[in-house]
Amino acid sequence: MQCPKCLGEMQPLTFNDVEVDRCTKCYGLFFDHLEKEMLKKMEGSEELDVGDEFVGATYNEILDVPCPKCKTKMDHVVHTDPFEIKFECCSACKGVYFDAGEFRDYLEDEIYEQFQDVVDHLE
Ligand SMILES: [Zn+2]
Ligand SMILES: [Zn+2]
Repeated sequence: MQCPKCLGEMQPLTFNDVEVDRCTKCYGLFFDHLEKEMLKKMEGSEELDVGDEFVGATYNEILDVPCPKCKTKMDHVVHTDPFEIKFECCSACKGVYFDAGEFRDYLEDEIYEQFQDVVDHLE
């Protein structure tokens, strides 16, 4: 599979029986539908995101991103609460692309939300 951002080679890797694809050049990550939901529940999945977030940020500027799986133009998703996270989502196959560093942010966001849940239940 070819990376939609830097056109480098994306290599499949397996983490706890979930197959993800990671670019060997810019370390962007591609997840099939629901893989990220599974991954965020797994301990240590942030280790998949080994790239440099500053490199990832430069690839964030690319606006025309074809889905590496089905070639549909991917939508830009911006989460602003509580932290700003941008990633690309394919409306056709529901695949998700994270630039290097974005998946770590995404996981932190989830941890923050879970923490908020606990706090809410305490009150
Ligand atoms: Zn790449
Ligand atoms: Zn797609």
